[in-house]
Amino acid sequence: MHLETLALHAALHPDPVTGEVAPGIHLSTTYAREGDGALVGDFSYSRAANPNRAVLETALAAVEGGAAAFAYASGIAAIAAVVQTLDPGDHLIAPNDIYHGTRALLAEFGRIGVRTTFVDMRDPETVAGALEPGTRLIFVETPSNPSLKITDIARVVEIGRGAGIRIAVDNTWATPVLQRPLDLGADFSVHSSTKYFGGHGDVVGGALVCREDDETAARIRELQSTLGAVPSPFDCWLVRRGLMTLALRVRQQSANAAAVAEFLAGHDRVEAVFYPGLETHPGHDVAARQMSGFGGMLSFRVKGGEAAAARVVSRVRLFTRATSLGGVESLIEHRYKVEGPGSPTPVDLVRLSIGLEHPEDLIADLRSALG
Ligand SMILES: *Cc1c(COP(=O)(O)O)cnc(C)c1O
Repeated sequence: MHLETLALHAALHPDPVTGEVAPGIHLSTTYAREGDGALVGDFSYSRAANPNRAVLETALAAVEGGAAAFAYASGIAAIAAVVQTLDPGDHLIAPNDIYHGTRALLAEFGRIGVRTTFVDMRDPETVAGALEPGTRLIFVETPSNPSLKITDIARVVEIGRGAGIRIAVDNTWATPVLQRPLDLGADFSVHSSTKYFGGHGDVVGGALVCREDDETAARIRELQSTLGAVPSPFDCWLVRRGLMTLALRVRQQSANAAAVAEFLAGHDRVEAVFYPGLETHPGHDVAARQMSGFGGMLSFRVKGGEAAAARVVSRVRLFTRATSLGGVESLIEHRYKVEGPGSPTPVDLVRLSIGLEHPEDLIADLRSALG
């Protein structure tokens, strides 16, 4: 079945007792046992497993095309779950244009001996050059945050294969609607469900989907409960609901973003536009090969430097000035300021998360802010 169908029907059936069609929220932290100690149902304690998380995880595996999926309390916790499969002394390779929270997380793992080399993954051969005997993981983020750099997933898989190296892809910005890392041979696809999966800016969550339900997946399953960064039943319910409209939202957001990118590319106060759908984008050909659409995120540099970028952000009326992305309403941010001192992001870069407003209204807002 197709993603659209799976997103609606995976693990969702009318309740056999009440007949309710919309799923309930199961808040119980603990589950009863019979006189002989046997559990009445499938669950014992909610951190280990619970009905809402089980339904969500089934749906996550289905939409991403994986054999096992795990839900977390945040996207960062999902990424941490991948890195926690490594041991002290192990080495991993990550892109230098990586989500700044992932960079901070990898620095923490560095303290306990899991080392990271950052490379420019636009050229996958830099990955081959960074391989060490202890390399166990290549972490890809494509399109990357905030510069929308594109990494050739299939090529990175080729480089890692045979060397016993696992490949993880942060698929948050593309979503499985537009990009299928597991089909391209990656071992793990990770998500901040806070973004497109939840889709409405009202839940923080993360997801990790494994291509195979193998020993590593079993270890991840164990760690999910042992380390305990699990989402609440209500959070699971919200993300599950978001998944039902994921394909529809993402395709429209992608079309809207393409229209906004075209407009910005033709504006004389704009220095550069970063959107993989533009033929002038250096990653366009790879993106066109591995994505079925170019997504709802873009960024651009404003002529006139930091002050000019800050001015555009201060003058919009329809876009909300806020960080995060992937929700139904469009957001704008002066990214360097959000990431703070030491950020490698250009000071004149404005990042947009395009929502479901009419693209002509978004363009009119940007035209007046740039004017
Ligand atoms: C937001 C984001 C994360 C972190 O997710 P949280 O839900 O905030 O923990 C990781 N990767 C990317 C690409 C993101 O945009």
